[in-house]
Amino acid sequence: MIRRTRYQYYTNVNYLTCETCLSWHGQIRKRKESFPESVDGCESSILSIPGKRLKHYREQGKRMQARARQELARRALFRKASDRLAEFPDDALELFSRSATLDLYVPEIESLVAQRQQILRANPELRDRLRVLFVKAYSDKFGWRRYERLPEIMRLQRERAGIDRINELLG
Ligand SMILES: [Zn+2]
Repeated sequence: MIRRTRYQYYTNVNYLTCETCLSWHGQIRKRKESFPESVDGCESSILSIPGKRLKHYREQGKRMQARARQELARRALFRKASDRLAEFPDDALELFSRSATLDLYVPEIESLVAQRQQILRANPELRDRLRVLFVKAYSDKFGWRRYERLPEIMRLQRERAGIDRINELLG
């Protein structure tokens, strides 16, 4: 039996990845041409899969697709939290907290603070609760397997820089 080479779409999943790339992440096709051409700024590539390893890559592809769906869910939670911040702050904190268990990105906190400046300025207690929540969540994420691959020193530096920035934004 001849097992032909297949191709798998890979993209670097983060808060900037577009929805098209997320929808293709992990998918396997017989032909390279089946994938959309990368014209956006996402870091994407098409991997060749040896036919005999197809099963392994299919399993991996399922995990990759789950990760892509998780990123979409994370964004939706973060957006909803931001929308509710003024009127339903407790709800918003709960949603931010759920979103942060999936991942948390400092540039998104920067946008949030810029967009919700008035509410946060007028409400130091809320600002502080948010700060505590984000600092804790940001620190937690560097203990995840996804981030364990980074060299220790780099992980600590990134964690420290992120926490400093959050304290600066919401302090
Ligand atoms: Zn893209």
